[in-house]
Amino acid sequence: MTLHVVYSYSCPQCEAHYIPYMADVVCPRCGAAATETFDYIPKAARSVRFNLESYGTYIPPAWWVGSLGDHILHVMFPVFENFRLQTSTTDFSEFALMSFSAMNWGDQQYLRDHVIRIAGLVYDEMQRQPKRDPE
Ligand SMILES: [Zn+2]
Repeated sequence: MTLHVVYSYSCPQCEAHYIPYMADVVCPRCGAAATETFDYIPKAARSVRFNLESYGTYIPPAWWVGSLGDHILHVMFPVFENFRLQTSTTDFSEFALMSFSAMNWGDQQYLRDHVIRIAGLVYDEMQRQPKRDPE
């Protein structure tokens, strides 16, 4: 099994899809304030760590994308896995910036910096969350 984070939100002004993961997060495309917040970071961190603890890799064997929350996890999993497997840098922020900048975001270019920030926060949160006891 895997841990999904089912959440979608679109900007009331420009309809861009993004995640208002904190109170001060504004639309990454038009800058409008969000009308709600969703505590995405700790949930995403649990989902990412769950994969490693269950499968020995951050990339789950199967992943169904049913929401924006799941979509962002889907693009983050390989970045966390590649970071884990490489030895050239210990700076996750730098690694995430390079990895996400190399991706083709198509008409969702505005999501790139948004996802880079989310990935950095998820990484920090993963370091904070206690390790799950082996079952
Ligand atoms: Zn907007």
